[in-house]
Amino acid sequence: MSAGAVRVKVDEHRCVGAGQCAWIAPKVFDQRASDGIVMLLQPHPGPEDLPWVREAVERCPARAITLEHDDIEHDDIEQDGIEHPAQGDPR
Ligand code: SF4
Repeated sequence: MSAGAVRVKVDEHRCVGAGQCAWIAPKVFDQRASDGIVMLLQPHPGPEDLPWVREAVERCPARAITLEHDDIEHDDIEQDGIEHPAQGDPR
């Protein structure tokens, strides 16, 4: 897997089935026919889909979508549960 690949995660328990994600990024998200809960179609979206995935993250009313970088080592995830990447911060 290439360094810096982005992984999408969805939390079905938080999802309220609003459907913005499937509308904004239909190659990455869909909804279950029975209850509208999000289904993740593509956990590793390509660069062409990433802007739409980020838009879906911002517009999800339940904050049920998160992005992670696959190159983050376990040690970079501290006990507060927040990822602290050692590199890539432009500041
Ligand atoms: S936008 Fe959020 S709440 Fe709506 S279906 Fe997608 S994950 Fe669920």
